[in-house]
Amino acid sequence: KFITIEGLDGAGKSTQINYMKSYLEKKGFKVLLTREPGGTNIGEKIRDIVLDKAHAEMDSVTEALLYAASRAQHVSQVIMPALTRGEIVLCDRFVDSSMVYQGRGRNLGFDAVKAVNDFATRGLEPNLTLLFNINPDTSLKRINERGPGDRLEEEKPQFHFSVHKAYMDLAQRFTNRIKVINASQGIEDIRKEVEDILEKLIKE
Ligand code: C5P
Repeated sequence: KFITIEGLDGAGKSTQINYMKSYLEKKGFKVLLTREPGGTNIGEKIRDIVLDKAHAEMDSVTEALLYAASRAQHVSQVIMPALTRGEIVLCDRFVDSSMVYQGRGRNLGFDAVKAVNDFATRGLEPNLTLLFNINPDTSLKRINERGPGDRLEEEKPQFHFSVHKAYMDLAQRFTNRIKVINASQGIEDIRKEVEDILEKLIKE
């Protein structure tokens, strides 16, 4: 099974991902926890290009293609082999992140970004996507409390709000795959909600 985790920065994804891993391992599954660039050498190099502040002039199509290229490598070198070995793969951000950050945040549109990513992933789609949904005012506050970030764009309220709206639109478009988690609850309540969903998935 292939599970992806999505949500705005500051939505509390990392804590829950670690809980998810322990929960599934306790149930006897072998779990691969990964995130782009997934430890691939090629992906790391691509990431350096994307995140280099000296590249502030980067064209948004270039950015989308670089994310997709890094993802192609991650899928073929890390994700597919683990799925073939029968492991559960938990991936922190996947195509949906590109849909919202490049597609909506940078105005390339969902359809163009989806087309490029279908090519990159060879059509691999998650069995389940957990979308950690938090009020964007709250996540923005958390991001700013962490101190000045290195990705200033996402700290701009307008960008942040448009990404939040894009996630909600995606959830409506892919209702069969995306489960929206209320991430404004306490950590233990979120954990319980997530475990109930995982429980159903592993019984399938
Ligand atoms: O650490 P975390 O995964 O939350 O940070 C990811 C950040 O990288 C996002 O907030 C976003 O700015 C950026 N990103 C992106 N496009 C993607 C994946 C991530 O712009 N496809």
